[in-house]
Amino acid sequence: MLNILGIGAGYVGGPTMAVIADKCPEHKVTVVDINAEKIAAWNSDHLPIFEPGLDALIERVRGRNLFFSTEIDEEIRKADLIFVSVNTPTKTYGQGAGLAADLMYWEKTARQIRANATGPKIVIEKSTVPVRTAVAMERILNEKDSPIHFDVLSCPEFLAEGTAIRDLEVPDRVLIGGRHDTDSGREAMKKLSDIFRHWVPEERIIHSNIWSAELSKLASNAFLAQRVSSINAISAICEKTEADINEVSRAIGLDQRIGPHFLKSSVGFGGSCFKKDLLNLVYLCQFYGLEEAAEYWMWVVKFNDHQMNRFVDRILKKMFNTINGKRIVLFGFAFKANTGDTRESPAIYVTKRLLEERAEVVVTDPRALDNARRDLEGMPVTFAEDPYEAVRGAHAIAVMTEWDLYRDLDYQRIYDVMEKPAFVFDGRNILDHKGLYEMGYHVFPIGKKALS
Ligand code: NAD
Repeated sequence: MLNILGIGAGYVGGPTMAVIADKCPEHKVTVVDINAEKIAAWNSDHLPIFEPGLDALIERVRGRNLFFSTEIDEEIRKADLIFVSVNTPTKTYGQGAGLAADLMYWEKTARQIRANATGPKIVIEKSTVPVRTAVAMERILNEKDSPIHFDVLSCPEFLAEGTAIRDLEVPDRVLIGGRHDTDSGREAMKKLSDIFRHWVPEERIIHSNIWSAELSKLASNAFLAQRVSSINAISAICEKTEADINEVSRAIGLDQRIGPHFLKSSVGFGGSCFKKDLLNLVYLCQFYGLEEAAEYWMWVVKFNDHQMNRFVDRILKKMFNTINGKRIVLFGFAFKANTGDTRESPAIYVTKRLLEERAEVVVTDPRALDNARRDLEGMPVTFAEDPYEAVRGAHAIAVMTEWDLYRDLDYQRIYDVMEKPAFVFDGRNILDHKGLYEMGYHVFPIGKKALS
């Protein structure tokens, strides 16, 4: 039996450790966090995050071999392996502000592990960190006077929110970066691989040096974000030329070198990771004097900002250049479907711009209203649980999140209670545009001909 500890009980730490507990019933898994409220929520019937399949999973393993606790020091002492999944946000102050990763929480964790460990441990980076962060971790842990040996591994997490449990249970790959050049490094990698071997096929567990593993995570998110900005750049041309972005995506996605995934045009990407990790990559490029590479990746971020701006500019333009006093309903506030997470959601940005134009903004979302209320605190926004209530007297609907729910609403019933002309701006291209047009709506999808 191994004592496995997860430090950080957020979107990554909670689900990841729960899946490990589920798949490895012989091991004891504990998750700790400095946020006592969050730990209390993990121990209750109202988990702090929403993920499909998470409630059932937690019910199955909590109290069996999965435990949530605030006793960080004590759990460090007992642990054999420690997964670190603390937040690594963009730095907001001093040198590198707005670009570099803030490793404050990360370093604090490293020091806490060192202060409390009484025997050797394997420490695993799960958080996304700049390449070569493991050096800092090793230096802090293996100080000259320390009698205890620590092995540091990088095992970046590739899960996507909304499909986290599936991604953890059936991962495309598990990447383990470590030191192949020492016995203890090799032994540590084997120990970690043995955990994943409980459910991940051998060929999907891949090994690399630590730096490749750290960089692979940043590179992976940069490529995904770049794909969104690339297809969105094509969507802008479509709107000018009557080419249709869905037809273009299908045609290019059938090229096996390109592939069909992640080619959906939208109002832009959000979430806590893409922008942060791109900026971090930009900072690393600058740090190593690679200005052109920095500029290249910066454009992915800039284009995403531009796409969000284009979306609001279009709303303004199509609604006769004024939305002052007009009621605009946002369908969805989460940064993507099947999560309540609103971090860096395009909806936040769009709301702020609509308010600048003095629109009356109403927000509805099946899972993210609590977070939306926090994000928009102090702003004159109305929140509605029921989309049919939200649209009463509205001039426009702006679809911000691709929840299935919004595909299935009774749009005739909605049309009847809206102001006319009734506008729909589909920021996710999920609605039946032709059907809406035939009902009387003026419809503006992304990268497709407007129906107006
Ligand atoms: P999160 O904010 O949801 O969770 C982080 C948790 O760490 C918080 O609950 C915080 O209280 C806790 N914490 C901070 N310092 C601590 C300390 N010293 N001791 C104990 N707990 C501490 O963040 P997240 O979304 O889970 O992301 C965590 C890391 O994983 C980040 O580096 C992120 O980039 C990376 N990541 C996130 C995702 C994702 O989809 N969210 C996917 C892959 C990787």
